[in-house]
Amino acid sequence: MKIITTPDPRLREKSEKVRVIDDEILGVIADMRKLSLDWEKEHPYELSAAMAAPQMGVLKRIIIVRDDMEDKKKATFTALINPEVIRADGKVVKGDEGCLSVPEIYGKVPRPSKVRVKAKLEDGTEVRIKATGELARTLLHEIDHLDGILFIDHIKDDEKAFYRMNDKGELEPVKDYEAEIRDNVELWGEE
Ligand SMILES: [Zn+2]
Repeated sequence: MKIITTPDPRLREKSEKVRVIDDEILGVIADMRKLSLDWEKEHPYELSAAMAAPQMGVLKRIIIVRDDMEDKKKATFTALINPEVIRADGKVVKGDEGCLSVPEIYGKVPRPSKVRVKAKLEDGTEVRIKATGELARTLLHEIDHLDGILFIDHIKDDEKAFYRMNDKGELEPVKDYEAEIRDNVELWGEE
């Protein structure tokens, strides 16, 4: 199992609903948790906040979200199965986003600041989550992955809103973002 990156076409597909939460599904979730933490070990300046199953090439509607997004030592994740946005409102706010599947690139993405999501937990319990701020942003980002949408899709061409992380873990603006990002997405991908 590995994290796939753009331009892998699987990142652009619609994932299918999970019908039964069986051992196969629980195995996928375990792999997602492991992969997120493996990625974090290799990225000292970053925190693996969340991940969607299609990011490891599994086209199923499953996401995991970090329980504590501040403290790297608290490395537990809640898995949400078939998550669905039932309402997104509140003020639209721009915030920094990055993605395990879009290496090194960050961008300012406008998102509604309040969401309600319904989903199932691993044990089959149905939950409804009311989220604001960073958690709302994270949920919207991850649920987008299940429909083949990446954060870069929400950034309009005329907004110079892309950043790259340098070796020191600092964000620097990407100057010619059109050349780097739109026309040459292969730059991000790995063979
Ligand atoms: Zn992502």
